[in-house]
Amino acid sequence: MITVTEAETCILNLVQPFEPDRDRDRIALTDALGRVLARDVASAMDFPHFDNSAMDGYALRYEDLAQTTKLSIVDADIPAGTGVPKPLERGQCARIFTGGMLPEGADTVVMQEDAERDGNSLNLKIEPQQGDYVRRRGEFYRAGSTLIPSGARISASELGVLAAAQCKIVDVYRQPVVAILSTGSELVDLYADRSLTPGQIIDSNQYALTALVKQAGAIAYPIGIVPDRQEELLAAITRAIAVADVVISSGGVSVGDYDYVDRLLDRIGADICIRACAIKPGKPLTVATIPARSQAEAPDRKSQRSKLYFGVPGNPASAMVCFWRFVRGAIAKLGGAEKSHWHPKFIKAIALGDLHAQGRRETYLWGNLSLSDGYWQFTPASNYSSGNPVSLAGTNGLAVLRVNQTYVPAGDEVLVMSV
Ligand code: AMP
Ligand code: MG
Repeated sequence: MITVTEAETCILNLVQPFEPDRDRDRIALTDALGRVLARDVASAMDFPHFDNSAMDGYALRYEDLAQTTKLSIVDADIPAGTGVPKPLERGQCARIFTGGMLPEGADTVVMQEDAERDGNSLNLKIEPQQGDYVRRRGEFYRAGSTLIPSGARISASELGVLAAAQCKIVDVYRQPVVAILSTGSELVDLYADRSLTPGQIIDSNQYALTALVKQAGAIAYPIGIVPDRQEELLAAITRAIAVADVVISSGGVSVGDYDYVDRLLDRIGADICIRACAIKPGKPLTVATIPARSQAEAPDRKSQRSKLYFGVPGNPASAMVCFWRFVRGAIAKLGGAEKSHWHPKFIKAIALGDLHAQGRRETYLWGNLSLSDGYWQFTPASNYSSGNPVSLAGTNGLAVLRVNQTYVPAGDEVLVMSV
């Protein structure tokens, strides 16, 4: 059986990232939070745009200080936002405020705390260094070079930088569309408005997976519930493939008589790359690609590329663990995000409870990562049945026990995947 690392490599190799020219949206910067830049952004302006003061104080000519420590203050103050100030003559200085443009000739600013004003003359209390408190034009960024690279995910800080660079419109990758379908004749939709009959449960995966897909920056396309009947499932899978870039189905990938997903994927000509993986929970994971030639006719741009299919097990914990470990990175790569987003992030934390595993498969134990006195700690969930959706609440980390690692005692360090 394929290992977790092999599965991750295999999946990432299947993913052909979107093309910046074809799979691109041109959108307002105000709508760009969380999106991925589809081309390098450069600015035609230097940052700072002009030499300016980093402090409230006095702008002066450093060379003058060789002769005197007493300078004459020119009439006009230089607050931020006024035009070009008058040049400084020998022996002069100017009252300047943070962001104010340095007058021609000035090359140094003395903080107001370090100087004493006496009418129109200024006595320095310190010996400044040349260039003190001056933000030189182009010191932070040179016009024309890359300001933010393609593949960067736009967060608050990138938004601020792009705004400063006057990028009102940005080119971003379109968001992958991810269809989600739940297989199982026992499932009932949350909003079906009828009480559960014996043997039925609510389709909770639909909601959890939809949330995970959105968190991953993709567009969730919930298809709903499909009973374990081959023809209905085939129709649903075909529809999902036609509308989405990626399909996630939960349930029906195990070895039971009513687990049809693999058989149907074979039937429609999918290339099944993974049929099981040595991960716990999540062993019956199915991963396939559906080549363009096998897809039903749908003349939109999405149908021209092959589609990625994840059949995750139906147990809520298994479905979520498989998503976090394998699907999230694939969506990131598909959507053009840079490499650092393709892989989960692991944190070393102190286990606050004993962690047990059978040791045959790489085991992911869910729980809560928190900081205490600056150190990460991991509180394991109360119960690790993969069918227990209740114990998943509060999860933001998965402790990883490698193959053959069966025990991590409380107090020991453990690697935790942040989710
Ligand atoms: P399966 O992978 O289809 O064998 O399902 C494994 C277990 O997960 C069964 O107990 C199912 O009832 C449960 N299950 C399957 N799909 C869902 C779902 N969408 N929401 C909640 N539980 C599910
Ligand atoms: Mg099932």
